[in-house]
Amino acid sequence: MSASNSHVSSQQLRDWDNAHVWHPFTSMSAYVDEHAPIIADADGFDLIDVDGRRYLDGISSLWCNVHGHRVPEIDDAVRAQLDRVGHSTMLGLSSEVSIRLAKAIVDITPVNLTKVFYSDSGATAVEVALKLAYQYHQQKSNPETARDTFISVGNAYHGDTLGSVSVGSMDVFHRVYKHLLFPTVSVPSPVVTRVPDGYDRASWLQFCFDRATELIKENHHRAAGFVIEPLVQGAAGILVHPPGYLQHIRTLCTEYSIPLIADEVAVGFGRTGTMFACEQEAVLPDLMCVAKGITGGYLPLAATLATEEIYEAFLGSPDAGRTFFHGHTYTGNPLGCAAALASLQRFQQHNLLDNVSVASELINERLHELAKHPHVGEIRQKGIMVGIELVRDKQSMDPFASALRVGHQVTVAARKRGVIIRPLGDVIVLMPAPAMPLSLIERLCDTTIEAIEEVVSQLD
Ligand SMILES: *Cc1c(COP(=O)(O)O)cnc(C)c1O
Repeated sequence: MSASNSHVSSQQLRDWDNAHVWHPFTSMSAYVDEHAPIIADADGFDLIDVDGRRYLDGISSLWCNVHGHRVPEIDDAVRAQLDRVGHSTMLGLSSEVSIRLAKAIVDITPVNLTKVFYSDSGATAVEVALKLAYQYHQQKSNPETARDTFISVGNAYHGDTLGSVSVGSMDVFHRVYKHLLFPTVSVPSPVVTRVPDGYDRASWLQFCFDRATELIKENHHRAAGFVIEPLVQGAAGILVHPPGYLQHIRTLCTEYSIPLIADEVAVGFGRTGTMFACEQEAVLPDLMCVAKGITGGYLPLAATLATEEIYEAFLGSPDAGRTFFHGHTYTGNPLGCAAALASLQRFQQHNLLDNVSVASELINERLHELAKHPHVGEIRQKGIMVGIELVRDKQSMDPFASALRVGHQVTVAARKRGVIIRPLGDVIVLMPAPAMPLSLIERLCDTTIEAIEEVVSQLD
């Protein structure tokens, strides 16, 4: 049978999946026996598999979906764009829809950001920001060629290309590549989930603030940039920073002329309660990366925003070598831009930030009781980003043995109940779309609680 035949049984698809498809961030040895749903269709906030089973999309198809699936305005915008042009290059050429989107993005992002450099994923948006910051110091009017290092936050995640892995520090994902990475300076992540011996919560946070001050001061001559996930470190397990931390880093970066790179890939487009997380601390970053939610979760598109000052360091006669020699083939793809424009319009028309606000409160209420559960170590939430950390022992915060795959088991239990979630280790992540109706938010919370109770009761 040929793969392009229209009638292929679900078993045939599963066999081909196991024979040929290598899944990202997936243990393929385990995957082949897991019978994960094969998604074929979607309807609103549901995903539908090849056998017609429906699942509530509880993680916004990995943190990017905004309005649900098959949204008429976005579908129509992409179709209309298809009737004009599917792709044309941005290298030395422009496209109508990419210009219109750049204007729309500049209108809603921090006021000092006026330039939009497109790419296709969060990792490339970060990669671009790192290269821009580095090159900026070489080419600005008072060049500082010693600025060849980046400062980042412990347990950061900024994507999977080697540059973005270099500024990341999630040991499980990154340690195997350590000899390939450029060195960075890491400040401690300001979170109190597990406080080191000798500290209480308050003194540990104070230490984190002070340590950032010290490390920035010590390293400022060689710091090309400070890269941070504003307010919430997503992939590290939805770690929520204390109020004032982002502003603290901004103040230090300003004092030492270090460009602040805000990686808003996960937190952008409403997830923390404001359109962008930086707004909550009135922080103006020098570079800002957006991706995941930009197209409403439809197509691969990303952007790195820059200030006029950074942009100007790249100007000069073409033979002066000041150009930014970077660009991906599908940079600023018109279909992606058309989806993004339609998504932004709908975001505003439907006042999605209001929905995020009530949905956040509902989640908070709904999970309140769960926090007392003996195997729930901590529930962390900012807006509609939620991490429920399951532990063997609540008092000591000792984890379950990783071989038990408790987080994964909860996912499977939720799936049996028609809800798709995906954990980060033993942190159960809920990441509903900003437009998800409250009745579905309730279902997502209730099903998650049932799934957790089912799994942990079998472990005791
Ligand atoms: C997901 C993520 C990235 C990487 O985005 P991709 O589109 O997967 O490359 C970068 N930074 C943060 C904070 C993310 O959550």
